[in-house]
Amino acid sequence: MYDQSPFKSDFAVFSHPDNTELCYLDSAATCLTPKVVAEAMYQYQSFSHANSHKGLYRLSASATERVEQARVSVAEFIGADADELVFTFGTTEAINLVANSFVRPRLSADKNIVISCAEHHANLLPWQRLCQQTGAELRVASLTPQGLLDVAELAALLDDNTCFIAISHISNVLGGLNPVEQVCRLARQQSIPVLIDGAQAVSHGPVDVKHLDCDFYAFSGHKLYGPAGCGVLFARADCIEVMEPDTLGGGIVEQVTLTETRFIDGPMKFEPGSHNVAAICGLVAAIDYIRGIGWPALVAYMDELSVYLHQQLGDLPFIKPLIPGASGAWLCSFQCQGVHSHDVAGMLDGDDIAVRAGHHCAQPLHHYLGLKSSVRVSLGLYNGREDIDRLVASLKHTYQLLA
Ligand code: PLP
Repeated sequence: MYDQSPFKSDFAVFSHPDNTELCYLDSAATCLTPKVVAEAMYQYQSFSHANSHKGLYRLSASATERVEQARVSVAEFIGADADELVFTFGTTEAINLVANSFVRPRLSADKNIVISCAEHHANLLPWQRLCQQTGAELRVASLTPQGLLDVAELAALLDDNTCFIAISHISNVLGGLNPVEQVCRLARQQSIPVLIDGAQAVSHGPVDVKHLDCDFYAFSGHKLYGPAGCGVLFARADCIEVMEPDTLGGGIVEQVTLTETRFIDGPMKFEPGSHNVAAICGLVAAIDYIRGIGWPALVAYMDELSVYLHQQLGDLPFIKPLIPGASGAWLCSFQCQGVHSHDVAGMLDGDDIAVRAGHHCAQPLHHYLGLKSSVRVSLGLYNGREDIDRLVASLKHTYQLLA
């Protein structure tokens, strides 16, 4: 195990004079970007930028080709077919798209939607709103003592009126891998469509949506070492076929008159307006970067680093993890005894250590755990033991000074 990450030099941010001491431990919020991603975006935006799918000239055709090649490459990355892959702004937009275009038309007062209490607000608010609007019931499964989705409890919530299941693959607060295969199997047996919120999981190892057998899978490029402003919705081809676009605009129509519209077929009907081609190029570069490292090497590195993180934090008696012993996660959310989470984050920032403090867009989960807030430390490829050692030293200092 290296003190400094062997991948750190891939990230230009650390070579900037302002950031030579930066200890970035907030990758669950957004990952820093490797040079190859910034370079791919720069190259496209500087030398090849045009509006895709619209112009008949060479530059526009080349932008179109980039988007469509990206669709193939990103689809391959998650085991999908290109005609099942919708480019969105991010996970949030992808989930809202499913809520409005797929679930809303199928929901009524006698139906229910099942989620868990650990969902990010992005995978809670759309369902809450739909249920409020239709009178349907939002059923909420709780967690095992290990902080994972309780599948047995979820199974007990399903009935003939369950219209949809929406579950995160990995919670952005607890970090453990939820048994989503089991959820998908249960759902398939009862013909209930499932959405997996993969915002955190997509950077944690290979995802195969066909193997999972889910209906929808959503993720964001910026949590995968790519840029913000580009996310993905995988939707099974038969789902895409029956879904009507909710956000309307140019580029998604077969034919329009002043009184009628006929939409095109396929994923592009959910991509109105102009594509963010630079961000899409960046996402492809991020995927290529991960492919270059290889999942086995990436996972082995991150697993070893996270064991070190949990060991080191475990040695601090004043640090109280939200889920004690959850060492499989590449993050740790905790409370520092006697010190408010915001004060902890402020003190760490004084040592140029970036962590997240608050409810991490998972207020109901904090409520479920009887807490208002926590500190979250989350790891990325650029982190090494040196970062964790600095974190521990700074936490000790914080505790001595403020508790
Ligand atoms: N779901 C989970 C589990 C997340 O961690 C996040 C972001 O933190 C989201 C959804 C929302 O992602 P985005 O803000 O990229 O749309």
